[in-house]
Amino acid sequence: MRVTVLGASPVRPNPGQACTGYLLDAGSRRYLLDAGSGVIGQLLQHARLETLDAVFLSHAHPDHCLDLICLRQSMAYGPDAPRESPLPVYASRDAIGVLEALGAVFEPEGFWSGWVVWHALEASSQLRLDDLAIRFHSTRHYRECLAMRFEQSGRCLVFGADGGPQASLAEFASGADLLIAEATLDRRERQPDAWGHLSAYEAGLLAATAGAKRLLLTHYFESDGGDLLLDAARQACAIPVELAREGAVLDV
Ligand SMILES: [Zn+2]
Ligand SMILES: [Zn+2]
Repeated sequence: MRVTVLGASPVRPNPGQACTGYLLDAGSRRYLLDAGSGVIGQLLQHARLETLDAVFLSHAHPDHCLDLICLRQSMAYGPDAPRESPLPVYASRDAIGVLEALGAVFEPEGFWSGWVVWHALEASSQLRLDDLAIRFHSTRHYRECLAMRFEQSGRCLVFGADGGPQASLAEFASGADLLIAEATLDRRERQPDAWGHLSAYEAGLLAATAGAKRLLLTHYFESDGGDLLLDAARQACAIPVELAREGAVLDV
């Protein structure tokens, strides 16, 4: 598997960058993981839209799903080659409901029809796409949010999405060759309402508890200082830790 960072910003984009989005190359298939604001522009630097095999959305917060609107508009009106079939989009019923409602704001009927095919996910869903096995886990967040575990040819990628400290997430991420974990809170005091996010240190703890082999910090405010975030995560784990930077390519 190969992962390309398309965006690693949290709710407010880092200057000149996109919110959350990752391109996953798995064998001959290409998948988009999350479509936060600004991600489609980044995606177009690496992939043609008609070559995407599916989209997986972790949850219905704008920094993870809003650019699906842009993707639909790009497919409908952009200069790219047409797709042979509608794009499969895997998301929770909650996220599908939000996107359906948003689409209806733009066009009362049929905004999505012919462009995407919804596949509703539960935390217990298990998928197999070719030789790629995919499982999900409900994170500790402010609305339904699914972490994702991708396994192919004995290798494992876990995309932690958004979510606060949770023992079951470490279990879900167990033995990951690459763990993508959020580092939203570092250098700010943990507020009582911040239970739904991790600090960089907590991301490191998660990686250590899970026995992950490599950690990629995502969903961070650049103003927190990349080196400080890396230092904080490294205090909690003894594996290679990197900061997700747009355009970076990681082999899993
Ligand atoms: Zn987020
Ligand atoms: Zn969120």
